Amino acid sequence: MKIAFIGLGNMGGPMAANLMAAGHDVTGFDLTARPDGLRMADSAAAACAGADVAITMLPNGTILRQVAAEVIPALTAGAVLLDCSTVDVDSARAVAADAQAAGLGALDAPVSGGIGGAQGGTLTFMVGGDADAFARAKPLFDIMGQKAVHCGPSGNGQAAKICNNMILGVTMIATCEAFALADKLGLDRQAMFDVVSTSSGSSWSMNAYCPAPGVGPTSPADNDYTPGFAADLMLKDLRLSQQAAEGADADTPLGQAATDLYRRFVEDEDGAGRDFSAMLPRFSGRGRA
Ligand code: NAD
Repeated sequence: MKIAFIGLGNMGGPMAANLMAAGHDVTGFDLTARPDGLRMADSAAAACAGADVAITMLPNGTILRQVAAEVIPALTAGAVLLDCSTVDVDSARAVAADAQAAGLGALDAPVSGGIGGAQGGTLTFMVGGDADAFARAKPLFDIMGQKAVHCGPSGNGQAAKICNNMILGVTMIATCEAFALADKLGLDRQAMFDVVSTSSGSSWSMNAYCPAPGVGPTSPADNDYTPGFAADLMLKDLRLSQQAAEGADADTPLGQAATDLYRRFVEDEDGAGRDFSAMLPRFSGRGRA
């Protein structure tokens, strides 16, 4: 396929490289990034000329809307606009509506798996949009990832992503505060892990991404909390979950509490640039006040 790839940062760069390595004809555009070996265009619109699929991997919904306004008129009817960024549900739905009005297929397909998943081609895609566009993009999901779940109409990919990450933020905080409490009760961290990881308190945060150094599988905690998944990105996703909850009139008290804690951690404490599991040393260093 002839593919335009807009947004070639930490995630987009390796995703584009994997598509190229699989034999696709990829043209990129980014305001600053210049990945080695990738043919670059002078603008997003120029990258899209004659493309079968235009992929975007951008920082937020405002930028996605700007880029979409530029690339939708540059694509030929029948092409697919495939956004893999994590953005608000409203922006995803607005961009999809504009694309469909121009005769394009449109998919919102945020990912989980992080930079390692992007490099290794093992991402999971959560996809909203019509079934025909999903079928056409499926071979690309198979190259860039290991799993693509069609979640329903436009916006549902973003809905799945923020619901998943709201659970992740809450369970990571719960796991970290439980470790900090266990420490103060004199319970050995390894014993805590051995019990919880095989009991009803288990979760991905405990079992696969244990926030305690030297306990459980290797995780960012074993690398001085170098991300991994940065607390800043968790805060972004939690804010999107609360924005969506506001719009949908959904009661999400733990999602709100997690958002407030990560905001304090990132903006007022030393959390910016650290892995999101560094909540554990944060709690360990505090008392109840
Ligand atoms: P990044 O900041 O490394 O890359 C974004 C790129 O977009 C940058 O290279 C930037 O120059 C480019 N860009 C910005 N505005 C542009 C424009 N108008 N035209 C063209 N290019 C433009 O970010 P990232 O880590 O690659 O994340 C991209 C998206 O993926 C975000 O929505 C993020 O939330 C999501 N995500 C990231 C991770 C992760 O672990 N990094 C995991 C899952 C999802």
